Amino acid sequence: MSDVPKPDQLVQIEHAPPLVQGWMNAPLEIKKGIACYGSKPKNIEYVGLPNPREWSPLDEDWKLPENWRQIVLDGLRERLERFRSLKIFMDICVRCGACADKCHFFIGGGDPKNMPVLRAELLRSVYRREYSRAGKLLGRMVGARDLTVDVLKEWWSYFFQCTECRRCSLFCPYGIDTAEITILGRELLNLLGLNTDWISAPVANCYRTGNHLGIQPHAFKDMLEFFVDDIEEITGVRVEPSFNRKGAEILFVTPSGDVFADPGTYTCMGYLILFHYLQSLGLDITWSTYASEGGNFGFFTSHEMAKRLNAKMYAEAKRLGVKWILGGECGHMWRVIHQYMDTFNGPADFLEQPVSPITGTRFESAASTKMVHIVEFTADLIKHNKLKLDKSRNDHLKITYHDSCNTARGMGFFEEPRYVINQVCNHFYEMPESTIREQTFCCGSGSGLNASEDMELRMRGGLPRANAVKHVSEQYGVNMLACICAIDRAVFPDLMQYWVPEVDVTGVHEMVGNALILDGEKKRTTDLRGEPLPGMEEEEEDV
Ligand code: SF4
Ligand code: SF4
Repeated sequence: MSDVPKPDQLVQIEHAPPLVQGWMNAPLEIKKGIACYGSKPKNIEYVGLPNPREWSPLDEDWKLPENWRQIVLDGLRERLERFRSLKIFMDICVRCGACADKCHFFIGGGDPKNMPVLRAELLRSVYRREYSRAGKLLGRMVGARDLTVDVLKEWWSYFFQCTECRRCSLFCPYGIDTAEITILGRELLNLLGLNTDWISAPVANCYRTGNHLGIQPHAFKDMLEFFVDDIEEITGVRVEPSFNRKGAEILFVTPSGDVFADPGTYTCMGYLILFHYLQSLGLDITWSTYASEGGNFGFFTSHEMAKRLNAKMYAEAKRLGVKWILGGECGHMWRVIHQYMDTFNGPADFLEQPVSPITGTRFESAASTKMVHIVEFTADLIKHNKLKLDKSRNDHLKITYHDSCNTARGMGFFEEPRYVINQVCNHFYEMPESTIREQTFCCGSGSGLNASEDMELRMRGGLPRANAVKHVSEQYGVNMLACICAIDRAVFPDLMQYWVPEVDVTGVHEMVGNALILDGEKKRTTDLRGEPLPGMEEEEEDV
């Protein structure tokens, strides 16, 4: 963070449009603080991607294969044939500009090429040159240009300054989805071994050990057992998770960030407490130390890579012989499950349509994927009065809720998290309407941009979200930002520290774990973080 300009410098943003010189003539600058490191050869080699070599985006020579241009143009042709949406998006933009000021990177940085319309135009200009008569004949006069090394570098720079959040598509009268253009642009770059290492390393790790962090099965189990000890210390109750248990009814899969990084770890403790509570009501669930990742960084590489990583969860469900899968609080995991799983690896006919063993609710939304979001599962439990809750244990928190782009715009998942929060907490405040639900602002670090070397980009991209948090913090004294996405939980602490330091970050199931009253528990004097619960600590001292 020390290299990032201070907040009062960063807010000096120039939003002037590039009318004078024209966007095509604006020179490209790949800058430290904005760009991520290039993929290390061992990571792309591990998953069989092409052109492994040492390189840096700051170098002049990117060590491309000799026929790189042909590779990309062939790749573009194949994708235009395969994805009708891409062809339509290339053809129908009328450059009305409705999307221009909707991207958090443009709002927070002012770079015109971060306007969604121009980001798409980077690819569209080459498409026009290759596929339109006017483009072939008139070139730059009609916004067409050749694919050169400079153009390729521009693609790399700006497709890795897009979090694939789809906010812009909401405002496009034609429904053009710039996220899809970015996704396919990144696929083309990957044909040349041009990815970021913050994406390639998790992909290789996930392929090797089952999770992004490269954690071995025994370490995964050890970590959960640490949480078991912590829970016992706080509640006096020893929970007993099971691992890799064949014949269990349900497999639980969550992002590895919940197991290894604060504050996701407290959310993980919340899951463990909930599962223990439900055991006597008939929950039969197992964790897997092999399918130890719900997230999918393959999605930030190519469709093919996303499919390969997604397959692991279902292979493990088959191996263990479970009936269905319960999924933890994650963002892109759910985008992949909800929008892609069926065509990638589905339908998962060897599993059964999920039914809650506690309430009997049949989850229609999971009829094909056989995978239920834990917040939906918990909301259903609360609705059926199955949980004993003490909301006052969250009274030290004044909460606002961030809709993760992937669960909100990607799944339409708006009400369940709010319902659960309101049932386990007394103080909940919404951010302004234009920044939540479908219109939610991205955390600024999704789609694999949550590295440490691009911190300036992240602080700029996160500005609109932070600004809305600041508003409710000043207005209502909000001190906690809740979310149901592991990337959000990983990136918001830095963003809040930078823009709104008085606000901390939590997952929804951390608050469920605080509120849930376990049979035989001792009087709680702290929350799951070990922070004293106001009032209750003094009572203990009196005793
Ligand atoms: S809103 Fe849609 S049609 Fe208008 S410029 Fe943006 S992408 Fe093109
Ligand atoms: S998908 Fe999100 S990050 Fe990408 S251009 Fe649109 S608003 Fe910006």
